[in-house]
Amino acid sequence: SPPHYQFDPIHTVKTSVLGALNMLGLAKRCKARILQASTSEVYGDPVVHPQPETYWGNVNPVGVRSCYDEGKRCAETLFMDYRRMNGVDIRIIRIFNTYGPRMNPNDGRVVSNFIVQALKGEDITIYGTGRQTRSFQYVDDLVEGMVRMMNTEGFSGPVNLGNPVEFTMLELAEKVIEMTGSSSKTVFRPLPLDDPAQRKPDIRLAGEKLGWKPNIPLEKGLEKTIAYFRSIL
Ligand code: UDP
Repeated sequence: SPPHYQFDPIHTVKTSVLGALNMLGLAKRCKARILQASTSEVYGDPVVHPQPETYWGNVNPVGVRSCYDEGKRCAETLFMDYRRMNGVDIRIIRIFNTYGPRMNPNDGRVVSNFIVQALKGEDITIYGTGRQTRSFQYVDDLVEGMVRMMNTEGFSGPVNLGNPVEFTMLELAEKVIEMTGSSSKTVFRPLPLDDPAQRKPDIRLAGEKLGWKPNIPLEKGLEKTIAYFRSIL
């Protein structure tokens, strides 16, 4: 979540880089297979659309998102170098925007924000024009992809795991208001710095190597997520 990882950016870098180093050392010693939960953030504000794994990205190295983006990019580098230099049995997945039940109501990301705001009858906060896009993956689809990746021999990635159906934030807000039957209104707030304008995974590689594709469309996933937030609010 951007507000959470930006709260203590130095700690975010330490977690990504030193955490990866420590875990790779452990995996090497124990001869364990190890999975890096990487991110679509490695593509930054992408100029190639949709994003295939072969795209190297468009990342600001000195901005407020860099602690996460560059931290995760460095972790991918470490994973590949431990494989090349030490034969560690690595796996790298790049996780695109994911949501579902049991998210923290204060997570700060868009799906949980909009649902919580709609259920409480508060204003729905759209950052920027709301014309930026994201592609939302339901958590169960991601977990299935992760398990397949860990159980597949001879393929270490990186591989995109995400739902390629793309929405604008305005469309998402509309959908949430309609599905919750809320009387909330949308309000516009400043766009966070370096907020990517568009994001959508190319998932052909995951299909080919893992026989994977997402099965839960946004409406179905939102239904389950809205039901969860209703039950806790
Ligand atoms: N966003 C928004 N309202 C919110 C929270 C987020 O309009 O209350 C926007 C945000 O600016 C971004 C998109 O929704 O363009 C997705 O943001 P999120 O923090 O969920 O994840 P990101 O993909 O940016 O890491």
